Amino acid sequence: MQERSFDRYDVCIVGASIAGNYLTYLLSKSNLKIVVLEDHKEIGLPFQCAGIISQKLSKLIDLPEEIVLNRVNTAKLVSPSGNFIKLAGNERPYVTDRIKLDRLFYNEVKDNPNITYYLAEKYKSFEYLIEDDKIYLLIETSKRNIIAKMLIGCDGPLSLVGKQLNVKNNVIFASQIRVKANFFNHEAAMYFNPQWKQLFGWIVPEGNQIYRIGIASAKNLNTSFKRFLNELSVDMKDKIDQQGGIIPYGVMNKLAFDNILLLGDAAGQVKATTGGGIVMLLTAAKYASNCIHRCFKEENFSKRIIKKYYERPCSQTIGRELKLHFIIRLILENFTTRDFEIFFKIIKENKIEHLITFYGDMDFPKSLVFKLLRNRTVLSFMFKFFIKNPVIIFKILKLFI
Ligand SMILES: Cc1cc2nc3c(=O)[nH]c(=O)nc-3n(C[C@H](O)[C@H](O)[C@H](O)COP(=O)(O)OP(=O)(O)OC[C@H]3O[C@@H](n4cnc5c(N)ncnc54)[C@H](O)[C@@H]3O)c2cc1C
Repeated sequence: MQERSFDRYDVCIVGASIAGNYLTYLLSKSNLKIVVLEDHKEIGLPFQCAGIISQKLSKLIDLPEEIVLNRVNTAKLVSPSGNFIKLAGNERPYVTDRIKLDRLFYNEVKDNPNITYYLAEKYKSFEYLIEDDKIYLLIETSKRNIIAKMLIGCDGPLSLVGKQLNVKNNVIFASQIRVKANFFNHEAAMYFNPQWKQLFGWIVPEGNQIYRIGIASAKNLNTSFKRFLNELSVDMKDKIDQQGGIIPYGVMNKLAFDNILLLGDAAGQVKATTGGGIVMLLTAAKYASNCIHRCFKEENFSKRIIKKYYERPCSQTIGRELKLHFIIRLILENFTTRDFEIFFKIIKENKIEHLITFYGDMDFPKSLVFKLLRNRTVLSFMFKFFIKNPVIIFKILKLFI
């Protein structure tokens, strides 16, 4: 490292998007001296999200009205050949102004004298440093050197903090446009297709006849997106703007290291069924904040303590559900067009829509999966599917070894 003076903090948070800002806000109630590093010069930009979040959002945070642009009351699932099922129940997800959501907690803490935000400043590396028998982190940014007791990686799907700890997320790529169009104002649609099998194509109604239309996939993103927009007969003259982005794909990664923890997309806390990460990371941030308080109270920043107060509670709650999301994804990913058609038919003919509506939970699918498997037709379909695709059984078993 170059010779530079050191700024000293208790906690250094990398990334000032939703995970970094919310954790900073939770920690702001203590007297911890915190520094937040953000590569971009403006919080919330670039905008890279469909912004649809289950109604659990308002249970996790105090949700100001101006964050909510619209509510969805129907989810339309469309098969590759255009057959569809519509689900309308108790769940009415929020369509959010993601830029405002990212800024919400930043605005709460930015004037706190214990908190420093360095924008347009890139985290580069860390190394362990021992001073008076205590372990610290020497952190290098693009502009300065920092010494901190804890480092928190909230630096997104391609996390550099994670990479330096040998944690790597598998990722998929997303493309989205915002357009003026005439779909349904309170209906979100998901288009399944073996060509974009790692997720789906989506239409999310933002309100005022503006729709967020996107797709995510591991490869051939541009070709698939063009095809999807053609199928929807979207006129590109009506395009307002365009976004891109990266989504972690898989199960939750390792979260705990000596003096360091990972949170949000950096930790792979994203649902493999929908690509949604916000409910998961807000939940995990509460455990992270509790864990950090514990570490400072006990003056112990070891991996063992961080595992106990952060990784374990996360694994036992969101971690289990994220595994189930990934199992569902592995199955859907191997559905042929014919499988989709048969499955949609089974749902319609057995009136399973009501079951999904009643037990369906955008974030925690466990109870729905058990209910579905109690239905004989579904069970027999799944049995035949696994006979045809035995490799998936091994992939699923590997998740538990
Ligand atoms: C197209 C798209 C649509 C999505 N739609 C939804 C949705 O509808 N609902 C939902 O719940 N989720 C959705 N997601 C996922 C959601 O956006 C993420 O889960 C969420 O943004 C993760 O927040 P985060 O703070 O962990 O990471 P990020 O939002 O990725 O933020 C990471 C931050 O770290 C900064 N950073 C990175 N490296 C460095 C560095 N070296 N130094 C300093 N700063 C750095 C970045 O600039 C960034 O600000 C979508 C994602 C995409 C891409």
